[in-house]
Amino acid sequence: MIKPGLKIGIVLTLILVLPSLFFSAYEISNLSKNEAVIDSIYTGQLESVLFSLNQYSDDVLSGWANRLERETEDINTLLLKNYSIDAVGIRDDDFKLFTKEKIPEDSLANLNSTLELDFAANLNKIELLQRYVKSGYRKIEALPNSLAGKSLFAFALQKDSLSAKTVLLLVDTDKFISENMGPKIQSVAQERFYISVFKNETEEVYANQLQFDEDKNITQKKDIWLFPAYQLGIQMRGNTIEDLVRERTRTNIVLLVVMDLILLLAAWFVYKNIRKQIKLNQLKTEFISNVSHEIRTPLALINMYSETLEMGRIPTEEKKMEYYKVINTEANRLSRMVNKILNFSRIERGKREYHFTNTNLNAEIENILANYQDHFDQNGFEIELQLADQVPDIKLDKEAVAEAIINLIDNGMKYSADIKKIELITYLDADFVCVDVKDYGIGIEKKDQPMVFDKFYRVTTGNLAHKAKGSGIGLSIVKHIMEAHHGKVELTSEFGKGSCFSLLFPVK
Ligand code: ADP
Repeated sequence: MIKPGLKIGIVLTLILVLPSLFFSAYEISNLSKNEAVIDSIYTGQLESVLFSLNQYSDDVLSGWANRLERETEDINTLLLKNYSIDAVGIRDDDFKLFTKEKIPEDSLANLNSTLELDFAANLNKIELLQRYVKSGYRKIEALPNSLAGKSLFAFALQKDSLSAKTVLLLVDTDKFISENMGPKIQSVAQERFYISVFKNETEEVYANQLQFDEDKNITQKKDIWLFPAYQLGIQMRGNTIEDLVRERTRTNIVLLVVMDLILLLAAWFVYKNIRKQIKLNQLKTEFISNVSHEIRTPLALINMYSETLEMGRIPTEEKKMEYYKVINTEANRLSRMVNKILNFSRIERGKREYHFTNTNLNAEIENILANYQDHFDQNGFEIELQLADQVPDIKLDKEAVAEAIINLIDNGMKYSADIKKIELITYLDADFVCVDVKDYGIGIEKKDQPMVFDKFYRVTTGNLAHKAKGSGIGLSIVKHIMEAHHGKVELTSEFGKGSCFSLLFPVK
């Protein structure tokens, strides 16, 4: 059969501990998935910022094309207003080149022929643009070109229903980035992001934050649609996404572990308590059976001796006296036992009262011994008394102290085998007046020593300990009495050699 304590442990583990451990394991395994989702949301957000910047650059270029298409602005005004446009070339029947400022004739001729060459090299794309525009879609195309630091864009403009002309825009890439994209980048980034433009992935050509910040480490990059060699990079300022995700994960794991620990502790606490209650219940049952046994013996003796007396079959007065004595002794034993149980019950209910009077411990002990001498003699015990020369008077409840000392002497007698000797020693120790009750009996094993003062606790291993009758409440009463006196009871014992219980009463 499974022990009740074990059963409770299994049930607690099943209903409390296991589900919470499973839940934690599930949560922890899900954490990385959740964090991946959060990570992708953040990444998506940053990407959409980059997308909007790309879109904006496209819009700038479309705006220029619109103005030229609708002729709301002539080419020279467009050149003048937009710092980043170096030149505009119109390819119609011939090729016309417009530059921002007057440049020397030979440079102009140079530029002209370069653009012509670039135009010729991209003829396929340009034909495609013209076909698009005829079907109503104007596309702006970035063309590979031979001018360093410049970007060349082409789009077609509808001339009439049959023909189209081509516009070439020569843009200074760096100026476009700082003049046209710059303000937009600043307004989007504000204090929240680092946004930079990189050339060939590594060379930073523009940054919203000029001074170098320690936490800046832009890894998320996207190509700029208009300038294929350039990239836009973005990073959140302060905590990076990785930091935030890591911090969240760490906090979640710590919280889960703390919660589990608290739950485990709570389960352990409940388990210990229930186990203690079960043990106490077992002890109570044993207590009832022990007490019944203890009461039965004197009752049987009293019964037998009184019946014999009643029948008048005792021939001599001497024998009668002997019988009376037995009846008296057993009745005393019975009444001591009943008193002990009543006192214990009073203590349990918190109803035991103490009446303290100034008392001399030496005198009180002599008193007790005088009252119980017969009891010791009957059991064949020698009580050796060693009293300190002088002890100060202390406040004692005489009855309770007598009860404690008698309990200890009774135990000494009960748990002694060959050496029937008990020593009572009084002495002064620091702020305490003390009395030792020492026997040379079976002693108490180290493992049992801390428990013998617990109510109902009995050592049942060993021959004598097993045979000796008892209820397991004597030492718990002694402990309670000493606590009521603000004193303490201490035990030193060697298994097989004997025990010494010391009662320490505070002088003040
Ligand atoms: P009991 O009625 O069983 O004696 P107590 O509370 O007085 O109950 O003692 C608790 C247990 O402590 C005893 O069962 C016994 O095993 C042990 N014990 C107490 N006093 C002594 C002693 N003087 N020598 C050996 N064991 C003792």
